[in-house]
Amino acid sequence: MKDRDKYDRMRDIIYKGNVVALTGAGVSKESGIPTFREKGGIWDRYDPSIYGSILGLSSLFLFKPQRIRDFIVDVYEGIISAVPNPAHFAFAKLEEEGKIACIITQNIDNLHQDAGSKRVYELHGNLYMERCIRCGKRHKRSKEEIKGILDFLKSARRYEILSKILPKCECGGRKRPDVVLFGESLPQEEFEEAYNEVRNCKSLLLVGTSGVVYPAASLPYLAKEVGATIIEISPEPTALSSLADHTIIGKAGNILPKLLRRK
Ligand code: NAD
Ligand code: ZN
Repeated sequence: MKDRDKYDRMRDIIYKGNVVALTGAGVSKESGIPTFREKGGIWDRYDPSIYGSILGLSSLFLFKPQRIRDFIVDVYEGIISAVPNPAHFAFAKLEEEGKIACIITQNIDNLHQDAGSKRVYELHGNLYMERCIRCGKRHKRSKEEIKGILDFLKSARRYEILSKILPKCECGGRKRPDVVLFGESLPQEEFEEAYNEVRNCKSLLLVGTSGVVYPAASLPYLAKEVGATIIEISPEPTALSSLADHTIIGKAGNILPKLLRRK
């Protein structure tokens, strides 16, 4: 099928409305944030069984806090310097036009919201939020605040690292970044709402996710069950490609803007 016809067909599906988007790290790659698993990505440089789990991170805090400091500075600097790319803006435009009902993202970088998307379910948390481990209260940190913390951390002494990364809450407990680590459960309400959105959608746009992280990767199976049309946009086949009714091979930032209808 000619490219033009293919995009026309995709636009027809999307412009019927009630589209839910499920996004992952690939959407932010063109903003300069590497996906975790690829060469040069975070899990290539830091062992995920240590840096991705609460147990590994706790023992590093006790014995090698400088290593946690280096990890935190590396991850945060990559994310706070990133800005939305054409894929994020196309999603926001489709929501503004009333076609996309919501975005369900596994990303923690806030770039969908920075681009103007309003209804975003964050299954794995958000790097700009912190949560008290004791009372559960959540609090947003601005980019400026985070920059200040990173500058301090770079020359911090061993004993200063813990109190800067896990500051005290007014209740006396410690606050941690509000992101989901391996083995931790997802924010339940957020997941339930996302689940209901998928259950009621007409089509599901799968963009930039490898489909290997569960339970997020179970949502396309639900979409299939309820008869939604699944469109996948990815530079390479993924674990979810066999579910897709239509696959567009390519980068999110190139393809998504082509799915907008010209006025
Ligand atoms: P993943 O790293 O497992 O897979 C990324 C997928 O994106 C791959 O299938 C890859 O082929 C595809 N991809 C690469 N470049 C692309 C592009 N330009 N356009 C479209 N697709 C592209 O990502 P995942 O499935 O989201 O799982 C990774 C986990 O790590 C998630 O839980 C997420 O929380 C976290 N993470 C988040 C960020 C972020 O917030 N930006 C970055 C890395 C990892
Ligand atoms: Zn508290």
